[in-house]
Amino acid sequence: MSGIAYLVGAGPGDPGLITVRGLELLSRADVVIADRLGTERLLSKCRPDAEIIDAGKAPGRAALTQDETNARLVEEVRAGRMVVRLKGGDPFVFGRGSEELQALHAAGLTAEVVPGITSAISAPAYAGVPVTHRGVATSFTVVTGHEDPTKGSEQTDWHALAQLSGTLVILMGMGRLAGIAEALVSAGRPSDQPVAVVQWGTTSRQRSLRGTLGTIAADCAREGIGSPAIVVVGAVAGLDGLEWLSAARPLTGMRIVVTRSRAQASELSERLLDLGADVVELPLIRMVPVPDSPELCAQFQNLDRYGTIIFTSVNGVACFFDRLRDAGLDARSIPRQATIVAVGPATADALSQRGVRTDVLPARFIAEGVLEGLADRDLAGTRILVARAREGRDTLIDGLAGRGAEVDLLPLYDTIAEEPARDAIERALAADAVTFTASSTVTAFHGLLASSDYERIAGLRIFSIGPATSATANDLGFSVHRESDEQSIPGLVRAILKDVAIR
Ligand code: SAH
Repeated sequence: MSGIAYLVGAGPGDPGLITVRGLELLSRADVVIADRLGTERLLSKCRPDAEIIDAGKAPGRAALTQDETNARLVEEVRAGRMVVRLKGGDPFVFGRGSEELQALHAAGLTAEVVPGITSAISAPAYAGVPVTHRGVATSFTVVTGHEDPTKGSEQTDWHALAQLSGTLVILMGMGRLAGIAEALVSAGRPSDQPVAVVQWGTTSRQRSLRGTLGTIAADCAREGIGSPAIVVVGAVAGLDGLEWLSAARPLTGMRIVVTRSRAQASELSERLLDLGADVVELPLIRMVPVPDSPELCAQFQNLDRYGTIIFTSVNGVACFFDRLRDAGLDARSIPRQATIVAVGPATADALSQRGVRTDVLPARFIAEGVLEGLADRDLAGTRILVARAREGRDTLIDGLAGRGAEVDLLPLYDTIAEEPARDAIERALAADAVTFTASSTVTAFHGLLASSDYERIAGLRIFSIGPATSATANDLGFSVHRESDEQSIPGLVRAILKDVAIR
């Protein structure tokens, strides 16, 4: 078995900006040697059993030296493994990818290069600055602002660069920004020439600033904008009508905690990420199917007794069909005439994916809504099955029984509290907002907090999915910042967007 290395460009930080080829290789690799800048959000795409090595070149604290990185690459490939060397931006733009390729070739090993989207072009683009623009700039030059200190003398000829009429894109220039701006002005660039600086470009932490060669160093110092950043010098940095990020991704810069179970977090997390937020997943609950039992099996065998079957969650639908199969049955056991009720659209979707159409979808996606949705039906004497968690609110069952129905509970799963590590809790407490999608997550969150944490909760905007979740939060002393107008993930996301819009 012969190993191989892939030098993969991760793109500048937005996880959507890796190439299709790069992502595919990343998801198959045995070993991933990753830089820190640009790669954070991609590591979740690795195989769960992949070995992840941090070559992180965080300023002042190199986890691996370049020689160590090269040696490690060679060693892993020699051991016959598939190695992805994941590098920020493009591997061959100030990324030392070429040195790594030379080292691999010198060792007689095989490697492939997967180019990436460089921050030199994409970070400006995310700040609404094109590196070329018709009639404004017909060329761009990418240059490092940070010379290799071992070289002794400065190689970058700022005088020559100043003579070029095109755009200058400077990487690694923040440490010497004032000196660079001065050098360009004394070599002939006007001191009022526009400059844009983009820090953490394309990530949820992106910040950008515009100024001129004369002001930019002081502007950045005042706003606290430093490395890692791209500096763009030229008339393109002064163009108007190109800023798109704040409208397209209104949650940029906001860090939001998602407390749903690991299995259910993705829909909410993805929507928030799409809108630009930085998402901290802190799974607080876990759904565990109830153990198999003869009683449960018998309930499935007797589905034909029911005129109505009510599903109250996506997870309930999944467990229902798993258990139906375990009982040796399939969807044909659901009586043809039965009225199928789903609490909300996500639950109805889950049913539809399994070939079952929903007959009643209430206007309000909560227990009370289900009762309202069935308001025009005579339930007296009918048999109703409620498929849901073993523990839950009694509102629905009591309400239906109150109208003369014979109601049975089909207990499918238990909701169990997770025990996240303290550093995960710390990250959550440092966020801007937290989302609660069920009472059980609020209770679990409360249970995790040390008394010294309570003060910090005040700094977190709490978004609740609906009245029951809010009530639990209030009972536990949390103040809900905003409640979703509809008990659903899209509703919760709208509540966050509304909040940002009025700020
Ligand atoms: N190979 C990388 C560049 C590595 S050099 C690429 O093609 O993008 C590291 C420098 O790149 C940083 O000091 C900074 O100037 C720039 N950089 C990388 N990612 C960045 C980002 N997301 N936002 C702003 N600058 C970034």
